[in-house]
Amino acid sequence: MADVLVVGELKNGELKKISKELTSAARKIADAIGGKVHTLIITDNVDAFAGDLKAVGADAVIGANLGEFSPEGYANGIFAVIQEKKPAVVLMPHSAQGKEYSARVAIKANAGIVADAVALSVDGGKVVAKKPIYSGKAYANFKVSSDIQMFTVRANSQEVTPKDGAGAVEKSGASVGEVRTKSLSKDLSGGNKVQLADASIIVSGGRGIKGPENWPIIQDLADTLGAALGASRATVDAGWISHSHQVGQTGKTVSPNCYIACGISGAIQHLAGMGSSKYIVAINKDGDAPIFKVATYGVVADLFEVVPALTSEFKKVLG
Ligand SMILES: Cc1cc2nc3c(=O)[nH]c(=O)nc-3n(C[C@H](O)[C@H](O)[C@H](O)COP(=O)(O)OP(=O)(O)OC[C@H]3O[C@@H](n4cnc5c(N)ncnc54)[C@H](O)[C@@H]3O)c2cc1C
Repeated sequence: MADVLVVGELKNGELKKISKELTSAARKIADAIGGKVHTLIITDNVDAFAGDLKAVGADAVIGANLGEFSPEGYANGIFAVIQEKKPAVVLMPHSAQGKEYSARVAIKANAGIVADAVALSVDGGKVVAKKPIYSGKAYANFKVSSDIQMFTVRANSQEVTPKDGAGAVEKSGASVGEVRTKSLSKDLSGGNKVQLADASIIVSGGRGIKGPENWPIIQDLADTLGAALGASRATVDAGWISHSHQVGQTGKTVSPNCYIACGISGAIQHLAGMGSSKYIVAINKDGDAPIFKVATYGVVADLFEVVPALTSEFKKVLG
């Protein structure tokens, strides 16, 4: 029992990048503990994703048709695959869906689980997961002592490394089993153009944008870069934008490759949601703003001059 099972994720029928990130991370773990990598995709069309997952290390790409998302149904189906494959390690996305089913899966499998890992390594045959604690002010390392070790992993925290696996395609007969809740309706009005949690670039605006009429300046930069639009709580509380855009302790936790903060002071509660971003670019006219303590690049200037200039330069470069 040294195999690693990855639960991948689709969005609108497309493979989400987290599926490759987790498969790549699983490959490294499996190579260290001497096992195979199985990547489970909830779909009736697993063949469509097998090539991409094989190329990042999947030995088996398993399709399970569990229908429309339900936390209970997915937990039942994923647990059925765990019973069949008997993995030592299970990696799940720390996504909106993953957060809903992962703890249920852990309870069913009588396994310990570490949520929101941002780094994974192997020590003495066991996985060590690094995760933020105290709202991102510090990090701690954890091991899981149960036979099955489970982890949810933050998007964009793992490198995708090309490495061929065996890539066998399997169709699982796992079913949703008994589901005791029923989805009655959906309100998608808060949906962003690019989803914050998965975005590799985020452009965020704070109180420094002065009012909701100025969002187009920030949105224009975001659109040019193919980025998601984020916001500080001050702008959400002021009613300038919906809470679905809020980044921070009481908003979304994000970990993009690049986070561009425009007119955001960098309060600890905001940093709690974006502090693990790979590169942080801060644009703020106050050189003493705390955001500059975490920024990779800082521009001390008026955002109303800098942001349109950046957008125009990116438009020239990116066409
Ligand atoms: C329990 C709790 C939970 C919280 N959760 C969150 C959370 O999830 N997310 C969050 O963001 N906050 C959260 N907050 C609020 C947080 O403490 C801050 O109040 C908030 O982040 C401030 O938002 P801001 O940076 O947009 O505004 P401000 O702190 O007012 O900063 C605005 C910045 O804009 C700059 N600026 C002004 N004009 C310009 C200009 N023309 N060009 C460039 N820069 C300019 C200013 O120098 C200033 O630094 C929480 C607070 C509490 C108590």
